[in-house]
Amino acid sequence: MALNGGSPLLGVYRQPDFRIVAGEGCELTDEEGRRYLDFTAGIAVNALGYASPVIRRAVEEALDTGVIHTSNLFRTPTGEALARRLVEASGLDRAFFCNSGAEATEGALKFARRWAGTLGKPEKRGFLAVQGAFHGRLFGSLALTDRPAYQEPFLPLMPGATHVDPWDDAALDRALDPDRVAAFVVEPIQGEGGIHPFPTERLRHFRALTAERGIALVLDEIQCGLGRTGELFAHTPSGVRPDLLILAKPIGGGFPMGVVLLSEEMAATLRPGDHGTTFGGGPLVTRVALAVFETLADPAFLTGVRERGRVLEDGLRSLHSRFPERIREVRGRGLMWGVEFTDAVGPVVEAARERGLLLVGAGANVIRFVPPLIITPDEIRRGVEILGEAIAATAAVGAAS
Ligand SMILES: *Cc1c(COP(=O)(O)O)cnc(C)c1O
Repeated sequence: MALNGGSPLLGVYRQPDFRIVAGEGCELTDEEGRRYLDFTAGIAVNALGYASPVIRRAVEEALDTGVIHTSNLFRTPTGEALARRLVEASGLDRAFFCNSGAEATEGALKFARRWAGTLGKPEKRGFLAVQGAFHGRLFGSLALTDRPAYQEPFLPLMPGATHVDPWDDAALDRALDPDRVAAFVVEPIQGEGGIHPFPTERLRHFRALTAERGIALVLDEIQCGLGRTGELFAHTPSGVRPDLLILAKPIGGGFPMGVVLLSEEMAATLRPGDHGTTFGGGPLVTRVALAVFETLADPAFLTGVRERGRVLEDGLRSLHSRFPERIREVRGRGLMWGVEFTDAVGPVVEAARERGLLLVGAGANVIRFVPPLIITPDEIRRGVEILGEAIAATAAVGAAS
């Protein structure tokens, strides 16, 4: 059978048979009227779930102005209001808007190189990322993504990118060469790499090392940021102030958007013409993003994420106790969790889908849980129960064969 049932779309995704036509809250509905509890949230994008009144209102307000797009030739009040809120909340000084996570990574790399170019060290152009990192799939961001299978068909990528074991202090010391490295790029919680949170102490260590050596620290919070962990940013509890912070997935409420936040020191080296985008930060997406941000940044909302995160954690830990020979580890924060299995998770994901629960993997052996942040405790318990059934069912299949 042809991939994806003869769909004319480029075959770079493996898609299940059903087609989604509607959604509300944490549920999606397919053409046949089947409903699915969605623990993927469009890969950590749909923080406010489906049919969100917050997003609807913002879209309507934007449409009422008649101006969806202006290009960056002109200023807009919503773009500046959003930038102001983001710099205030992050403790950084300037915002650059683009259209995706990979674009935000690419922007941060250019900005870091621009800054490094002013330091009088001609070789200081390299970038360091950590093992297991995911920063996007364009030529620069892909070079920082530690997945040989994603890279190899497309070599050569951007030169100057290397990876280091983030736990090996001697290797870090060697790799963070102040004469050659412009920026060190880290996800405070690795997403695609399998949900690996860095403890606060490690983030502080990265900050101390990079600060001491005059290397820009870029935190990639494209997946873990903006309320996902029950904190506004995953790095918030560490008190670390990065030089650049990149955001994307949930910020646009489902509309494509990426953000680079910069310190004044970085920003001061950039001039008109140094970077740009036609669509980035238009009036529709920034109005929606402002409404999304105000919702996510509300301390009461974040408290709710932490509380419901504990319900999810408890559920996943009880599955770990129930299936100790299938599940190796449960890890995460807030509403961002990974369950590492002893073998490939494809069959469990499929069995869960057949039972009405949508899940997404993060690498071959990890199921990732990134539901809408508005998910209720009952929905969490229902999802965990379905997952338990799916694990039991696939265990039975494995034993029979
Ligand atoms: C998804 C993701 C990206 C890439 O974002 P796209 O919008 O898919 O380009 C980069 N970094 C992290 C941590 C991500 O999760």
